[in-house]
Amino acid sequence: TKNSPVSRMDELPIRDELRGKSPYGAPQLDVPVRLNTNENPYPLPEPLVRRIAERVTEAARHLNRYPDRDAIELRTALAAYLTRTAGHAVTTEQVWAANGSNEVIQQLLQTFGGPGRTALGFEPSYSMHALISRGTGTGWISGPRNDDFTIDVEAARAAIAEHRPDVVFVCSPNNPTGTAVEADTVLALYEAAQAARADTAGALVVVDEAYVEFSHHPSLLRLIEGRPNLVLSRTMSKAFGAAGLRLGYLAADPAVVDAVQLVRLPYHLSSVTQATALAALEHTDTLLGYVAQLKGERDRLVAELRALDCQVVASDANFVQFGLFDDAHAVWQAILDHGVLVRDNGVPGWLRVTAGTPAENDAFLDAVRAVLKERS
Ligand code: PMP
Repeated sequence: TKNSPVSRMDELPIRDELRGKSPYGAPQLDVPVRLNTNENPYPLPEPLVRRIAERVTEAARHLNRYPDRDAIELRTALAAYLTRTAGHAVTTEQVWAANGSNEVIQQLLQTFGGPGRTALGFEPSYSMHALISRGTGTGWISGPRNDDFTIDVEAARAAIAEHRPDVVFVCSPNNPTGTAVEADTVLALYEAAQAARADTAGALVVVDEAYVEFSHHPSLLRLIEGRPNLVLSRTMSKAFGAAGLRLGYLAADPAVVDAVQLVRLPYHLSSVTQATALAALEHTDTLLGYVAQLKGERDRLVAELRALDCQVVASDANFVQFGLFDDAHAVWQAILDHGVLVRDNGVPGWLRVTAGTPAENDAFLDAVRAVLKERS
């Protein structure tokens, strides 16, 4: 139609690579049970809500001033959190924070990707790796996975040797499949990426650990030691139950932290964001208690879906990929008709469900049971 933003957009002098493309858009539908965007179903506990109010009130008294540009107090608290929970000590200088790990990834691609450069990821994986690459003018290369969604190390090595990417993404646990990546695999890919770019200063390997707190396996944080081109990306959107906060962070060699300062907007992290994140970090133990419950619910979803004769990919995240359906989109719609929103990531035959509260997961399992019966 005349006023549709898409047709009007095409009349604008936008960049060629953006023409005809659609933005990231998980449906935000108003249904009773929403298990589609890997959010934490638990609202922040009241004592934390009050602590946020206190910290934000204090920050508000200074809003006439720009925030701490280097977010030192917050980065120090994040370094302490990583040191305590990820089995490896990191310092403030090794940690950088931004508005969600999406912004962390964008800053990394602005610094290490860009026009004339390429990034490679193993698909299906988090779609924003490709979209942020495009947005930063970085060429995107789709690398292979095995049928069980693990990374085929030999095929991955071959893809890296062939395409010689400047940036390699390894998502562990992987979204949307839930697959954790072993340390040995990451090391093999790191070596391959450095060897392929031996003519330059090597290639950046980004390990996206957005969901690692839900994993059966420990964080790969220790791998950054002695590997200046290895970056670990994290977020408070999932385990901390704070998707609305928009706080992501990275851990890497201090030189990487220096490098992203070249592209970050000055004062990118508002005082309100910094105050809120600091309050949440004070309540880490309570929030990790919710994570433990969600891990149990995730394992229950896996077991119950298998009992319904669904195929389920082993999951180390707060979501589960299940199938196999001849027409996954029709099943998605049928589950939605029962009041439960899950995600169709476009992986043929598969759908993804986020672990919710026990009641939400029961509603989801009831819906699947009903849908399988309707369709049998
Ligand atoms: N990485 C992965 C693998 C994700 O699934 C997500 C969120 N869906 C993000 C990064 C980005 O999260 P945020 O920007 O909220 O930190």
